[in-house]
Amino acid sequence: MRLIAGVNLRNPVPRFWDPEDAHHLPQIGGLMISFADFLGYQSRIKAVREKGLRSYLRIPEGVEVFLDNGAFHTLMRGDALDASAYRSFVEMSSPDWFPIPAEYIPHPRMPRKEQERLFKKTTAYNWRYAPKGYIPVVHAGMCLPKFLDSIERLSRKTEVTHLGLGAMVPFLLRGKGADGRTQVVDDILRVRRRLPDVRIHGFGIGGTATLHIAAVLGLDSVDSSGWRNRAARGIIQLRGTGDRIVAAFGSWRGRALSLVEKRGLKHCGCPACLRNGTKGLESGGIDGFAARATHNLWVLASELQDIEIRLANGSYADWFPEHIDNRIFIKLIEHAVNEMAQPATAAKVA
Ligand SMILES: [Zn+2]
Repeated sequence: MRLIAGVNLRNPVPRFWDPEDAHHLPQIGGLMISFADFLGYQSRIKAVREKGLRSYLRIPEGVEVFLDNGAFHTLMRGDALDASAYRSFVEMSSPDWFPIPAEYIPHPRMPRKEQERLFKKTTAYNWRYAPKGYIPVVHAGMCLPKFLDSIERLSRKTEVTHLGLGAMVPFLLRGKGADGRTQVVDDILRVRRRLPDVRIHGFGIGGTATLHIAAVLGLDSVDSSGWRNRAARGIIQLRGTGDRIVAAFGSWRGRALSLVEKRGLKHCGCPACLRNGTKGLESGGIDGFAARATHNLWVLASELQDIEIRLANGSYADWFPEHIDNRIFIKLIEHAVNEMAQPATAAKVA
């Protein structure tokens, strides 16, 4: 599974993709940029038109560029969606992966009628843009079965080789306990089993714990911006889902590092800790942010590497309950592991 790191071009630090940067992380195979970071910023668009996206950001060969249509942020910001601007940006920037120009993301609390209205709007974009090479998108939630039927019909018209699966994050955050969240595991599984040969990308589920779920269920790629968001709030990630606050900013509160964790951190192999140690992680300003973000992304990459080794050698099922320190996620991963161990039945994928 590929881990795609979400970047923010208003503050493109740390430049983990750049071999000449001190925060280079060669183990990260791709980055996701958002069209929302270009729409309305003429100088950035001009630079991309003149230099090309890869040379503008100094992205080396072998690192994939995923584009996010930015529809969610554009709508949140109160701006109108501009499908033709998105199309011309795709043409000038030639990203490796680009979804349909707009999607309408449901929320678990929305009534069925509203979710169906959004499903129809997203589906119209799938049908219009998939034949032009844009990647269709489906959403978790009550309309997922309809989405999958629609993709099956669509694939008779145009070959569907890639798919984006979104809207999972609000379901994962919803409520307490694991029960409501097992639906997300079942939704991913439903998509995976129905489309075994399609490369499926899971939007926004590249967190330390969700990485486990995505890898166990056989998704092809996931992205996350959590490594940056946490760093901005003074938080570092530890292996096995732990978030620890190392620099107190504003009103953010969280669990501090224990003595054992502090000692363990001295042996962290990430480029930031190797250079400046725990002191660097605790710094303020852009340097502290870059150190924490690099550390967090490195932790995610190491977590994924271990998951894949253990899934391949058969030791995963014994390892993860010891490794993960969050009860809710242990239950969810257990559910995913158990489901994957069973052969698909007609009832399960229907
Ligand atoms: Zn580190």
